[in-house]
Amino acid sequence: MRLGKIPKVTPSGLRINQSRLWETIHETCKWGAAHRWGEGPNDTGMARLTLNNEDARVRRWFADEVQKLGCTLAVDQMGNMFARQKGSLGSSRPMIAMGSHLDTQPRGGRYDGILGVVGALEVLRTMKESGFRTNYDVGIVNWTNEEGARFPKSMCSSCVWAGAIPIQAAWDLRDIQNNKVTLRSELERHGYLGDISCSHEAYPLGAHIELHIEQGPILEETGRSVGVVLGAQGYRWLKFTVTGKDAHTGTTPFSARKDPLLAASKMIVASNEIAKKHGALASTGILKIPDNSSTNTVASEVVFTLDIRHPDDAVVHAVEEECLRSFQAISTQDGKGVTLNWTVDTDSPAVKFHPDCTNSIKAAAEALVGKEGWMEMTSGAGHDSVYTSRHCPTAMIFVPCRDGVSHHPTEYCAPEDCALGAQVLLESVVNYDRALVERTEKQ
Ligand SMILES: [Zn+2]
Repeated sequence: MRLGKIPKVTPSGLRINQSRLWETIHETCKWGAAHRWGEGPNDTGMARLTLNNEDARVRRWFADEVQKLGCTLAVDQMGNMFARQKGSLGSSRPMIAMGSHLDTQPRGGRYDGILGVVGALEVLRTMKESGFRTNYDVGIVNWTNEEGARFPKSMCSSCVWAGAIPIQAAWDLRDIQNNKVTLRSELERHGYLGDISCSHEAYPLGAHIELHIEQGPILEETGRSVGVVLGAQGYRWLKFTVTGKDAHTGTTPFSARKDPLLAASKMIVASNEIAKKHGALASTGILKIPDNSSTNTVASEVVFTLDIRHPDDAVVHAVEEECLRSFQAISTQDGKGVTLNWTVDTDSPAVKFHPDCTNSIKAAAEALVGKEGWMEMTSGAGHDSVYTSRHCPTAMIFVPCRDGVSHHPTEYCAPEDCALGAQVLLESVVNYDRALVERTEKQ
């Protein structure tokens, strides 16, 4: 695995403190450490579910640390934490935010989300100790319940902030282990039901830049140390119901059957071929046959899901249309055929991040690791940045993680890569802030 390295000379003249960043990441992981997999002190995963006692503990730590740096701290009604450092111009313009999340999956790792928040803290620490000030306000956001593991709605609070779901729907989410506990009751218990309403109007952001581990193998496989994320894939989730007729497997010839499981199998294979042809992804994660199925009976009905993804919505739609044509043809092929019905359960259009943000990150990456060290990417997973991008210029920075493993206790990002990621974050914020000044001067 190629390790990123911060060059001797950085564009801003500031330098991320790699060992402080590394120690801080793992110091905070004492709250929620779980699933030991090795002998080393950091060889555990994490189980810091949103608003459990460990999450409340790391939130208090975060509040203390940003206040030590002289930041003001605001908490909204979803418990989102906004730490804000004044810029030298004294402008009231919304802050340039570095955001991610401190909550984890129940069998999560030490970097997903955590690197984004702790890396942002290291950026502010580095600026502060060098006496460096941005022109405009900069800050950090810790978004509540990004993972949606305990209260089942991922990117929950950036979604409310963006106005995509009403706050009541988020407050009413129930703990999947204990349905007496709601997200709101946990916010209240820990004192995180803030006084600012959770919205992009009540607490607007000037920009949102998120540092995150890639959670996939592409950077590692291509030997790059930085991914400049230009957007997120579009996806559509469909659910198919294939109806046939149960029949005796010994006495019913193929020609007389209506076999939905055979048809569904062919459909799943066809979707894979169609997606490959378009350079897209198509996956079936759920396949249901009736509970009373038996070895010597043709199944009566099959339900399966299809998840189609690509960075370009037009390709997602093309794959979907071709799948539908192909599935309809398959439904007539064997025996007496089957009946096909489907619904579209989720439609999430592709997201294109803002060029002002992506250009700031590209310039930072180019200066730090050169042409061969970085690449453009599209995020395959959802992130809070997808929602912030609806209301402010947004982009993301990816750094490699070992074997592309994430949402697993062995998730690992090398100290050099964590530090390089934080350095790219720092330089991107500085670039964005300077470009803002230049643009304002021109006006
Ligand atoms: Zn994450």
